[in-house]
Amino acid sequence: MTRHYDYLAIGAGSGGIASANRAAIRGAKAAVIEAKAVGGTCVNVGCVPKKVMWYGAHIAEALKYSEAYGFKLEQTGFSWKTLVDNREAYIERIHGGYQRGFESNGVDYIEGFARFVDKNTVEVNGEHITADHITIAVGARPIIPTCEGAEYGIDSDGFFALEERPNKAVVVGAGYIAVEIAGVLHALGTDAHLLVRRDRPLRYFDEDITNALLERLAQDGPTLHTHASVAKVVKNDDGLLTVHTEGGDVIEGVDCLVWAIGREPATDKINLEAAGVEADPVGFIRTDKYQNTNVKGIYAVGDITGEAQLTPVAIKAGRLLAERLFNPELPDAHMDYSQIPTIVFSHPPIGTVGLTEVEAVAKYGDGNVKVYRSKFAAMYNAVTPHRALSTFKLVCVGDEEKVVGMHGIGEGMDEILQGFAVAMKMGATKADFDATVALHPTSAEEFVTLR
Ligand code: NDP
Repeated sequence: MTRHYDYLAIGAGSGGIASANRAAIRGAKAAVIEAKAVGGTCVNVGCVPKKVMWYGAHIAEALKYSEAYGFKLEQTGFSWKTLVDNREAYIERIHGGYQRGFESNGVDYIEGFARFVDKNTVEVNGEHITADHITIAVGARPIIPTCEGAEYGIDSDGFFALEERPNKAVVVGAGYIAVEIAGVLHALGTDAHLLVRRDRPLRYFDEDITNALLERLAQDGPTLHTHASVAKVVKNDDGLLTVHTEGGDVIEGVDCLVWAIGREPATDKINLEAAGVEADPVGFIRTDKYQNTNVKGIYAVGDITGEAQLTPVAIKAGRLLAERLFNPELPDAHMDYSQIPTIVFSHPPIGTVGLTEVEAVAKYGDGNVKVYRSKFAAMYNAVTPHRALSTFKLVCVGDEEKVVGMHGIGEGMDEILQGFAVAMKMGATKADFDATVALHPTSAEEFVTLR
């Protein structure tokens, strides 16, 4: 007998799990299919392990500056293994939480790789499973370049599988992942080199912020190599790698090379053709604002759509889709993809929501954009020899100075942004920011005292 569901999610990552749980809560008979580990990229090889490593790095930095706060500490070493073991134990607990969530919501969790048979049927482990509504939430995977010796590198999944701290690492790429991994490695004591092929990492972020990041990289590390496309990688007799760039740079003695040059959709093996679902030339499944694909009854959420590849986006899109399908009170529920806040866990973190100055000028015209900036020493650093500056910025438009962009790099920025993102979503103006009493002494108060 064929199992039949009202709602089936392919992929138990952030989007698949959130949508299946919400569908079940709204009364649908729901299931989610996963070939690897429950939780997908975010929980297993993304946000969660990354943030744990970043906290580890944070502690390393605090130890470095602890003397200025009066501590005389004798450090006897750092165990990468302990950090990784504790991280993985935490992830195991998250897996357990997901399973308990499925049980209490009545979602069936099916282990296996799903392939479409037709628009209402998938095949898993030889079994045909049918559903009225199917959501593709299979995510994306790291891209490996094609240069000579590329196979000697690992990707971000490989980074999280490392059992020992590398001595000398090269991280190639200019996005979130490259900046985050290079920063963590450096803070934890690896001689880390970040190779970008143009003049800076995070090129699409606001220029004031990336300028500040460049200053912090120059001051604190990791070592940044610009205009450094990798030409080839050579593995030497001692097992170490030599990385050659097209500009003639040679980095020797590398025991860890990480490719972080972007992620590609993981649609190629799920037999989309059998369901008639169209993907773009790269393989992303583009949807309308309701997450509908070109085939009625088949949807896509999360990284596979190529839109804002962020966990909370996948979760929100998945839940709203389930509400639209199974909650008669919300027939128009859909994700609003504007003003999505995001953090890069660099050192210090970068937070951004809305338009960069360049984007605001392009959209509203030069004369309609007013920018407010602050560059200041966070108190945390000010009492240490580490005189690093934070940079905060507001981008406002029109006579009423509506805040359309907020950007910052500095200690605490990761926790500062969320509340301000609410204010911006509500249409806050600079006057609203100014009318808010500052919290003192914090870095956050800079955003309500900008002149
Ligand atoms: P991104 O797409 O963000 O960045 C990859 C960058 O690498 C490109 O933009 C490009 O920048 C550079 N690049 C591309 N090809 C090459 C090449 N052959 N050699 C050298 N550099 C190259 O990818 P990521 O993998 O970093 O992240 C994927 C997505 O995951 C992110 O966009 C983000 O949405 C999400 N993410 C979010 C995190 C968070 O919220 N904290 C953390 C990690 C990931 P350029 O053109 O400037 O060279």
